Parts: sequence; C-alpha cells; structure tokens
Amino acid sequence: MIHVNAQRLWTTLEMLAQIGGTPAGGVTRLALSEEDRIARNLLRDWALEAGLTCDVDSMGNMFIRRVGKNSTLAPVMTGSHVDSQPLGGNYDGIYGVLAGLEVLRTLNDRQVQTERDIVLVNWTNEEGARFAPAMLASGVWAGQLTEEFAWSRMDNKKVTVREALEAIGYRGERPARAFPVHACYELHIEQGPILEDDAIDIGLVRAAMGQRWFTLTLDGFAAHAGTTPMHSRRDALTAFAELALKVEEIGYHHAPDGRATIGMAQVTPNSRNVVPARVVCSVEFRHPEQAALEAMEFALHQAAESLAARGVTASVERLFDYAPIAFNEACLARTANAVAALGYSSKLMVSGAGHDTCYVSKIAPASMIFIPCVKGISHNEAERILPAWSEKGANVLLHSVLAAAQET
Ligand SMILES: [Zn+2]
Repeated sequence: MIHVNAQRLWTTLEMLAQIGGTPAGGVTRLALSEEDRIARNLLRDWALEAGLTCDVDSMGNMFIRRVGKNSTLAPVMTGSHVDSQPLGGNYDGIYGVLAGLEVLRTLNDRQVQTERDIVLVNWTNEEGARFAPAMLASGVWAGQLTEEFAWSRMDNKKVTVREALEAIGYRGERPARAFPVHACYELHIEQGPILEDDAIDIGLVRAAMGQRWFTLTLDGFAAHAGTTPMHSRRDALTAFAELALKVEEIGYHHAPDGRATIGMAQVTPNSRNVVPARVVCSVEFRHPEQAALEAMEFALHQAAESLAARGVTASVERLFDYAPIAFNEACLARTANAVAALGYSSKLMVSGAGHDTCYVSKIAPASMIFIPCVKGISHNEAERILPAWSEKGANVLLHSVLAAAQET
C-alpha cells in the first residue's frame, strides 16, 4: 500500500504558512489579497513543476488537473481553500489543499496511472472574512449563488470581488459552472475537540449541520429603578435571562448534535437606574437533522410565549434557514475502507461548520475527512496539528481519491 511523503507535506505546509505569516505564528491571508495572490502563484508553480495543468474560472477558483487514462470520464475532485481569517491559523483550508497536492505528487512518484482525471481545487473566499457571505465561489460553481451577486460583494473599502479578482490576476475566462464530478473529498481539520479528546485519527464526516438564525425582540416597559416596586415591573432583561436559559436547555435537549447559541444581546435603554424596556437578541440553532431543527424552532416559540407571564411580549423573526447536508454513502465507504486498510481509528461525525464541499454535494457525490486539531482551537493563530495527524489524514485522502479514480 502506498503512502504519502509526510515530510514533504509538512515542509510544504511550513513554506505556505510564511505567506501572510504573523508574529504570533498564525497567518492573515484574506481572500484575493496580495498574500492570497502570492500563495496562489506558489501553488500554481508547484502544480506546473509536477507536470499538472492549472485552470482558473471566472470566480478565481483554481483547478489543478492530473490526467488519467480516460479524460472523458468524470474526474475525482479534492481540495479546500487557501484564504484565511484575519489572524487565523496555518491549517484551516490550506491543509486540505496541500494534502491534495501531496496526493498528486505521490501518484507521480509512484507512477500510478489512474482511470479518471484527478482535480485539485482551491475555492475562492471560503472564509467570508473579507467578502460576505462565506463559501462564495463554490456557491457560484454549484449554481447556488449567481456570479453577478458574487462579483458585486464588497469589502470594507468598497472594493468588489470582481475588482479584487482582476487586481490579483485571477479572474479567469471560463465561467464558474459545475462540471460532472465522480466523487469529491475535502480533507480538513476538525476545528473542534472531539477527535483529540477521543484519541481518534480520522473523522468520517457523514453530515453537515443545518442552521437556523433568529432575531428576538422582547418588549417590557421602562420604569424608574427606585420608585417601581418589584411586583409591578415588566423587565425585559430578566425575561431575557429566563429565555437564555431555556435556549440553552433546547441545545441540551438535542444533545449530542444540537447546538443552541445566543451570541448577541442589546438592552434598551441600557441605563443603570432604568428597568429595561427592550432586549433584542440573536438565537442560532444547529443540528444535522431537519426534524430536530423543526422541534428546536417550535420550542423557541414556546419559550418566547411563556415570557408573557412576566408581562413581556416576544417576537421571533427567522432570518436564515440553511438545510442540513447528508454526505454521500459511497464516498464515505471508500474512506472507511482506506482507514481500515491503513490500520487507523475513525468515527462517524457531523460538521458543525460550513464548508465548500457542502455546496459541491448539491451537484456531486461528496464527503469530508477530518483530522484532529490541538484542543479544537481554530480561527486563531494558536491553531495547531501534529505531523502524525497530518500524515494520516493525507494517506486516507490518497486512498479515498485513488479508489474513486480507479473506478470505470
Ligand atoms: Zn476551512
């Protein structure tokens, strides 16, 4: 059984981490920035050196191709993203891209001829940090967002995506549009603590969580803090406190996969000696099953209505409903076989974060592979992985991709 060159992969990761490297050991490589341009050029140079071709589409997505025996068959795809959060880590996204490059280099070293082409992709603006929303260019590629919408997104200096693509020389001629794909794999760090805590090598990602976002407005009545007795108050903030605990309970009720978060709350008038009149807050639910999201939303409405007992009315507005993604069984089966053949440990898991492959899965069989990251820390300069984890993930990617690429 062939293995990747783990040392070469680690060195490649270290070289790329210099581009946009920060004093604290992280990286700032915002989408379509000068750092992104330099990293893209380096990736392209490495691809060309390896005898591969590199195409760029109108959203700046890069497709690096290793030709198989029959290019009329749908290719196998792998990849992730080169961009990072501001003061982000050295592995989120870029690990999946460079492990994919290592897979192609290994197949070259071993002179393995595959039946199908293998395409390594770098998706533009996965993070959504410079241009909202996240996963912008994979969304266009998969037909979920229009190019017109994507090109018109602006950063905080009013530079559009289209202008930024042109500025770094990465607005390709070919329209960003899906082509047939036989199977797609994205290898990524977990960005959570589960694999490390359980001492498991590989996460077989069977699903990505759906998300529902709400804004709640709680209306009580502003009153004098000194002259208004306790029993005659309609305090929006104490009502909010009750609501916050109920939202947390909803998350626990749907454990282990459920998530319930209030990340934002604003109090009005926010004055030391006024009984609060109004609280506006966010509520966010995540779960891999649609039925559970329905139940969570229902429970939220009940919790909101129960605040009437405190003389506080609550309105619930749903802002965003992103359906759960179930990844492809055949893709997962190849990865499970690879894990078994390599003698590694694995567990089925659910991605709590969004990824480009969620969009890809709308049009092609796809799944994801996770490796642990230290303490689950991500979107942080302190993001770390161990070389042994990096090696195992790349070997599993190699054999998942190879198995798919040999199918006729
Ligand atoms: Zn990522």
